[in-house]
Amino acid sequence: MRIVIDGQKVPVNVRVSRDLLMTLKAMSQTLHWRINYDTANELVYIYSKNYVPPTSLDRPTLMIPEPESNRLLGKIICIDAGHGGSDPGSIGPSGTLEKDNTLAISLLLRDILESNGATVVMTRDTDQNVSAPDSSASEELKARVEIAADANADIFISIHNDSFTSNTTSGTTCFHYGDAASMKLAALVQKNLVAELGTKDRSSRFASFYVIRYTKMTAILVEVAFISNPEEEVLLSSTDGRTKIAESIFQGIANYFKA
Ligand SMILES: [Zn+2]
Repeated sequence: MRIVIDGQKVPVNVRVSRDLLMTLKAMSQTLHWRINYDTANELVYIYSKNYVPPTSLDRPTLMIPEPESNRLLGKIICIDAGHGGSDPGSIGPSGTLEKDNTLAISLLLRDILESNGATVVMTRDTDQNVSAPDSSASEELKARVEIAADANADIFISIHNDSFTSNTTSGTTCFHYGDAASMKLAALVQKNLVAELGTKDRSSRFASFYVIRYTKMTAILVEVAFISNPEEEVLLSSTDGRTKIAESIFQGIANYFKA
């Protein structure tokens, strides 16, 4: 299914999911759009409030400035909530699980991105293995890379919690696989996270993690903070902390597309 806005096809082949349709419906109410569905031809027609259909070739269509909430329209973002299902990831000193933190942060980030017009593809949106129940670590990582490729995503963001044997180690690190675009995204997300959370800046840096190495698009892996550190465990597992984290990652993404 494709989207046609004010008579023009959206250049990317957006796969219209139920989630996207719900987002479009919600946005259309706020922004007073009209939406028509042509299910036979798999098209969704969107008309903005001031759009006047051209009646002849010499009548130009109105140019309408893009509202703030549309700033990521046409961008496809794949969010990978680290671990899940049979793989809990790291476990905090008070028993919180990395897989729960990464999922909660990812869902919050999805909502913010969608409300800014982006199309979001999740590698998982519940507590489950991505490949198959009880699948191996390598099957899991491969499945995540495949989802991003199938979605034709512009950027891929894998969200994790760091962990160390010492419970005093702390801070934020964004990893990239060395290409210029991923380095830029990693630096911007890093900057926003450290500024908003007040965590130690461990800097954005190169790493050869499977999911950022084998994804073909701009890709980063975010180690938000250390779940092994009792203070950062609270940051990662509290609603306030998770909301701040999601908003900071969103700011980094928005800056990336703006720059
Ligand atoms: Zn992890």
